[in-house]
Amino acid sequence: MSATKEQKLEQMDMKRDMYQMIINGLREDSASGETYATYNPATGEPVAKVAKGTKEDAERAVEAARNAFDHGKWPRYPVGKRARILNKIASIMRARFNELVELEILDTGKSLAAAQGQVNQAIEDFEFYAGAIVGHRGSVNNIPGAFHNYTEKEPVGVCAQIIPWNYPIMMAAWKIAPAIAAGCTVVVKPASLTPLTAIVLGEICVEAGVPEGVVNIVTGSGSEVGNYLVEHPKVDKVAFTGSTPVGKDIMEKASHTLKRVTLELGGKSPNIVFDDADVDAAVDGSLFGIFYNTGQSCEARSRLYVHEDIYDEFMEKFVEKTKKLKLGNPFDKGTHLGAIISRSQLETIHGYVESAREDGATIVTGGKEAKVDGYEKGFWYEPTIITDVNHDMKAVREEIFGPVVVVMKFSDEKEVVQLANDSDYGLGSAIWTKDHARATRVAKQIQAGIVMVNCPFSAFPGTPFGGYKQSGFGRELCVETLDLYTETKSVLSYFGSKPINMFGI
Ligand code: NAD
Ligand code: MN
Repeated sequence: MSATKEQKLEQMDMKRDMYQMIINGLREDSASGETYATYNPATGEPVAKVAKGTKEDAERAVEAARNAFDHGKWPRYPVGKRARILNKIASIMRARFNELVELEILDTGKSLAAAQGQVNQAIEDFEFYAGAIVGHRGSVNNIPGAFHNYTEKEPVGVCAQIIPWNYPIMMAAWKIAPAIAAGCTVVVKPASLTPLTAIVLGEICVEAGVPEGVVNIVTGSGSEVGNYLVEHPKVDKVAFTGSTPVGKDIMEKASHTLKRVTLELGGKSPNIVFDDADVDAAVDGSLFGIFYNTGQSCEARSRLYVHEDIYDEFMEKFVEKTKKLKLGNPFDKGTHLGAIISRSQLETIHGYVESAREDGATIVTGGKEAKVDGYEKGFWYEPTIITDVNHDMKAVREEIFGPVVVVMKFSDEKEVVQLANDSDYGLGSAIWTKDHARATRVAKQIQAGIVMVNCPFSAFPGTPFGGYKQSGFGRELCVETLDLYTETKSVLSYFGSKPINMFGI
């Protein structure tokens, strides 16, 4: 099944009727011959057919990745050569930027601005790791006398990388770029709902000169294909982004062969607005913090705590701007929020809103499925603000993963830090204050992997992204990620002139 010259990938239009998998450097149909349709959530209409991967396909992909790792060139290339190919991937993506953006919008229903930002970041991730890997090195350690010790960073091996539907191309880049930079080979399983841009990214990797078997993209369900990869004895590491329950299941199953595991899971991130905040900046940042990507973000700032002295002023502005948010054609520059990924996700979101209502909360705005002209068959939800809530409510404790924010009033710093930390999750957090000492003090006490101070953004290439507590472990998007795709080998040598005879015989 090795790729001959004639079989090499031809560049195709990104938008097409049928998407195959990428296995061992080739476009492949499912072993079963089956396909399924992927839908545009904004319109409810089919976008394309996709190969429906099976265990057999996962097996072929693992074999290809194993072979490429054990016997192929990629892990043995000089690091500069791998870096050059990562930069080539980035440059092909840049040249086809608009096509990637269009495909991402069609597959997810997200807004133009969101898709553009995410494709751009995916490109920058490859550029970032092309640079970072060159500086990633082992150490020389102080040990006594005639001994010498150095360490080498060696790639971990075959990595199964399982990703969710909310940021399809960005998550694929967060996974593929550091892994292949480090010299690993990968089998990526995109979410069934949004496989298109990951498949195309796999094609781009091959086109850029990544050897066959190094980047494989296998579609299919989590329960069949995802699970098969996690259990596979020839897979050395699993990197997963998705929900906390699936993360726990993966960690347990990966333990059977003691795979390396990194998990980026859910969140319920607090957003704290102090009485000395720049209220307008806090309003705008809080709006973006929850409604960006239609709230389908693991780091969505979905618990909003506002100091009682500015509560009325803040809420008046926050509600007014929320009501101005535009839902509509995702390709329109003026659209703020795109669609919800699926009917079932929409129902989950609405179920949380209903639970809050039943618990006695007030729905200040939103709270139902949105009717969007021209998009009647799509999945849309109104930007929703809920007040009169407390920490006993399900809508306050659990991740909703939609455009829904719960708002609470607080009166002092100690109280709000305690509320912020009263969660099983610990991914993001935000603080709005003009007092630098307070920002530093509170940032230290928050149990979360990310603290945003007067800042609406959670990450750029180079900044560590990942969680505390049940939001998972491991950090992505940063230099440290390379440590998680490598093993450290310690080489200990003796250079003494006298032979060592410890047993003295
Ligand atoms: P999900 O956990 O259902 O699925 C994620 C991926 O895992 C999909 O590719 C799916 O097919 C696969 N999968 C499902 N069951 C599996 C199993 N038993 N074994 C192996 N693979 C399996 O999550 P989702 O609904 O696709 O995504 C939404 C969730 O992801 C949210 O909870 C969100 O917070 C989380 N998320 C976290 C981050 C982060 O960086 N921390 C980023 C994005 C999304
Ligand atoms: Mn889709």
